Amino acid sequence: MNKEAIKNDEMLDRIFDITHSLYSQMCTTDNNAKNNHSEIFRLITELGSVIVNADRASFWKWDKDKHELWTTAAVGEDRIIIPENTGLVGKALSMKKAIVTNDPYNCPDFNSDVDKKTGYVTNSIMVMPISNCKGEFIGVFQAINKHDENGFDLEEDQRRLSLAAFICGIALESDTFLDDSLHDKLTKLKNRIAFHNDYEYLRSHSCGCEKRALFICDIDFFKKINDTYGHNAGDEALRHVSSILGSSIRSCDGVYRWGGEEFIVLLSDASLDDAVAAAEKIRKTIMESVCVFESTEIKMTMSFGCTELDLSLSAEDNIKVADEKLYTAKQTGRNRVIA
Ligand code: GH3
Ligand code: MG
Ligand code: MG
Repeated sequence: MNKEAIKNDEMLDRIFDITHSLYSQMCTTDNNAKNNHSEIFRLITELGSVIVNADRASFWKWDKDKHELWTTAAVGEDRIIIPENTGLVGKALSMKKAIVTNDPYNCPDFNSDVDKKTGYVTNSIMVMPISNCKGEFIGVFQAINKHDENGFDLEEDQRRLSLAAFICGIALESDTFLDDSLHDKLTKLKNRIAFHNDYEYLRSHSCGCEKRALFICDIDFFKKINDTYGHNAGDEALRHVSSILGSSIRSCDGVYRWGGEEFIVLLSDASLDDAVAAAEKIRKTIMESVCVFESTEIKMTMSFGCTELDLSLSAEDNIKVADEKLYTAKQTGRNRVIA
């Protein structure tokens, strides 16, 4: 066997190892793995670096709403964000074709910000736009520092990288669908499906000693806001409340739009007293805040029902307990917290 053949054999072996891990990852029932694609993305980028013999590979996701591109070693971890239309990544997207540069620091399109942030030195780079199943571009696959003094070869390496870029496109689209299915479009908060996912995760991973609590809250006389200022103002009021809820909780807690103008907050490592204190703080913040819609100032209040979480019960049974407290809060004058 000649030298090149051995090298190719080794490469094929590594590819099979990675694709086998990808397959195993796809078949795992671990809840944590199922709630995001981070391990799958890690494997896909590893696959990309192996098949073009590069030092590393990564992907960029195009967030068209925020007009930015972000990258990370794994989804859900710290992200590096750049404005869309910038760098080689932005250029590959606008030109809808792969780009290679083997002298990036002398290339006007190369954005060295990521190198500056990470201390990494890019010698050669190849970027390849990736699309969803409809053929719409949604991101870029990127390989950096080819282990070859001539750097990347546009034609040959594009041919090789296609496998990883193709799988990455499908995974990115799937990740977007998953994310959309777990979030409410209006408020951007997690939704009811996400609540049930997270609740089941807590049930299967609970250590038994940790206390958890939950409260449900509902905007008072919300119908009146719609009737007085219109439905769009009502929507803005929902965003206003959601933003306060979201910024009032810790990263280990969860806030969910339960429906209409009702929200649930799930608190980790919290007693009933802690839940009451958290709810009381939010109640005051909302009462003292003003929602501005088309220069009209809208004031509102919320009522709260708290309960300590009993993970031996179903989610519905826990919520039922909190809901009864919320009902009491509504019956006894609103704008209050009941435990
Ligand atoms: P209470 O103090 O008893 O909770 O009274 P309320 O008026 O807040 O409650 P009610 O259930 O009577 O009304 C809720 C209203 O919320 C009715 C519904 O049209 C409105 N609503 C539900 N979802 C949305 C939404 O996404 N946007 C807007 N603007 N309104 C919504
Ligand atoms: Mg209400
Ligand atoms: Mg309601």
